Amino acid sequence: MSISLSHLTKHYGKTNAVNDVSAEIGHGSLTAILGPSGSGKSTLLKLISGLERPDEGTVVIDGDDVTKVDPRHRDIGFCFQHYAPFRHMNVAKNVAFGLKVRRRPAKEIDARVDELLALVKLEGKAKSYPSQLSGGERQRMALARALAIEPRVLLLDEPFGALDAVVRAELRHWLKELHGQIHVTTVLVTHDQQEAMEVADQLIVMRSGRVVQSGNPLSLYESPATDFVHEFLGPSTMFQGQVTRPHDLELVSVYQGTVKGRITSIVSLGFEAQVTVELSDGTTTWVQLSRNEISTMGLRVALLVGVRRREDDV
Ligand code: ADP
Repeated sequence: MSISLSHLTKHYGKTNAVNDVSAEIGHGSLTAILGPSGSGKSTLLKLISGLERPDEGTVVIDGDDVTKVDPRHRDIGFCFQHYAPFRHMNVAKNVAFGLKVRRRPAKEIDARVDELLALVKLEGKAKSYPSQLSGGERQRMALARALAIEPRVLLLDEPFGALDAVVRAELRHWLKELHGQIHVTTVLVTHDQQEAMEVADQLIVMRSGRVVQSGNPLSLYESPATDFVHEFLGPSTMFQGQVTRPHDLELVSVYQGTVKGRITSIVSLGFEAQVTVELSDGTTTWVQLSRNEISTMGLRVALLVGVRRREDDV
């Protein structure tokens, strides 16, 4: 189901949390709303869900204007960072909850719960209690619960925000796979650009309550509309007065570079290294190189080098 947001505005007192936002979220897409803390992402999600009403503007889901429709009647599944399961119910009962409320027949509920637990890879955990699950398993249960009612739209607010980096990375892959299987229109709020770039097929980048750019992740990464988007979507540095990706720069001999400089630090981060160079024009830039490049070129602190943009290898 497609979602069409038109001129949405939401104030909290003097704070303009969402300011004249219009966006199209394609049917079956996995769209990430990305932006720094306080940029209005969660508020926008709440406006889509109906948990908040806009001061101005409309929310249209699949052609229906739902701006004034109660959240319960919008056919939406939610999953939040701090999802609170029913502690006294086992996993199967937690997942079944929405269907029970809707008074579906017991047989249908059992079949649907089995199907969902298989989908979120928790088949063996039906009888476990939430306290017996790991953080990642709990979030998968939350997703199964959100999907139980076969929502038209799935809304995820930093669903993996409370988990450690390894589990987050696993769940990202898993979410992408899951979305590939069920194709429900999904909107994910995150402040983590890597998460957004990895998982989403569409990005909406927000800043101070406004959309600054939207489109597919690669096109935004390669053609950011503003320095803010450039800096937000990946590593960046300044070179000759321009925001530049550090992996688009290279170090060469002093005579071959566009600008001369002196290496002031080399920080090794596993496979890659960040090399900081103080340039003769008085600015500082950093270049992303592989560990291999560092050793082959014999780079070390205090060495004089040339810096230039890598040629486009098209
Ligand atoms: P994000 O999700 O990008 O971190 P939010 O949508 O939560 O941003 O918040 C946007 C702005 O609105 C922030 O300045 C925040 O403090 C403010 N805000 C959000 N919710 C409320 C609320 N219920 N009452 C008052 N201010 C709020």
